[in-house]
Amino acid sequence: MSIHFLNCFTCCARFPASWRTGTLCLLIESSDGLVLVDTGPGLVDYLHKPGIMRAFQLLTKMNLDLDETAVNQVVRLGYQPEDVHHIILTHMHFDHCGGLPDFPHASVHVHTREYNAFRRLPLRWTELAYVRRHIAHQPKIILYDEVGECWFDFEAIRLPFEPEMWLVPLFGHSRGHCGVAIDTGSGWLFHVGDAAPLGLDEYVPSWLVRLVLGPHENVLRQFSAAHPEVRITTGHMWLDFF
Ligand SMILES: [Zn+2]
Repeated sequence: MSIHFLNCFTCCARFPASWRTGTLCLLIESSDGLVLVDTGPGLVDYLHKPGIMRAFQLLTKMNLDLDETAVNQVVRLGYQPEDVHHIILTHMHFDHCGGLPDFPHASVHVHTREYNAFRRLPLRWTELAYVRRHIAHQPKIILYDEVGECWFDFEAIRLPFEPEMWLVPLFGHSRGHCGVAIDTGSGWLFHVGDAAPLGLDEYVPSWLVRLVLGPHENVLRQFSAAHPEVRITTGHMWLDFF
């Protein structure tokens, strides 16, 4: 079993200019075809940028290189887009799910709260990052909300894949934002999405983290210190990581 770490969207801050980051998506070989965790923006987003992406361009410098789309990276790795049978979403902001239309055959696994927030009119400013057309192709959506079990100390939902994977609710950045824990065969990988900044190795003022990413940073730092054997990744990572 192998996991590919893909940068599916280089998006660097204008200030501070030293913040050069990419958007991490995971491509996992599972017992049921390829599983993609988040997609980055899709091909259509590069051709017809959604308004939120144009607004983001004012704050950030984007590569806007089609080679970074998940579908083009999947093909470069020697697979077909149809080989991606499942897509797990940490959340449905444009930079995490815009590539859904590039994998129209894939089932989409997402928390019910996130899907409901995506479908309704925006109630919070972070919900302006939802782009309705990203599910206009009507993919098969599989919703989760019952947390009856735990992964380590976190309430979690077991996903129907081998290797073992868990959806870990970390609500805050968005209504139904979740992390994804994956048994890599040589230890756990905990992808916490946008619940923490930049691989947890950068100091960002805590008020800013709470405002933008939600309330989980301290718990995740404590977890990371208590479990150094668990590898933690975040939705946006330094370019060096890739
Ligand atoms: Zn987000």
